[in-house]
Amino acid sequence: MSYVLAKRELKTPKMLESLGLKVEARRLRHILSDFTFYLNMGRFKVLRLKHGYIEAIVKGLHGEWHAKVNLLNGTFNCTCPHHKFRRALCKHVLLLLELYIFLRNEHKDLELVRGFLETYAGRIF
Ligand SMILES: [Zn+2]
Repeated sequence: MSYVLAKRELKTPKMLESLGLKVEARRLRHILSDFTFYLNMGRFKVLRLKHGYIEAIVKGLHGEWHAKVNLLNGTFNCTCPHHKFRRALCKHVLLLLELYIFLRNEHKDLELVRGFLETYAGRIF
C-alpha cells in the first residue's frame, strides 16, 4: 500500500503550448510544478473569487505574497520582489491562474486564462 496524493495535470503549460507562445512549456511546467504541493499543503488563502477575478495570499518558501489577477481588464499584481521591481508575471500570478482554473473550470474561464496568457506570456521570466 502506498500513500495517495491528489494529482492533476497542469492546464496553463498546455495552453501556452497550444498557443505556440515563446515561453517554453517545459520551463513553465517547472515554475508551476509546486502547484499541487501548494494546494495540498493549504498554501493558498483565497480572498476573493468571481468570474474573471481571483485574489489570494500565496504562502511561499520566502514569505507570504498578496497576488491578484483581473482577467477581464488584463491587470495583475503581486507583492513579491520579482513583480514589484521587474514587473514580471511572477510564479505567484501563474499559480493563481492555475488555481482559478482549478476552482472554476468552466469553458469560459479557460478561455479567459488563455487570452490573458496570450497577452502577457512575454512577461514570464
Ligand atoms: Zn509574485
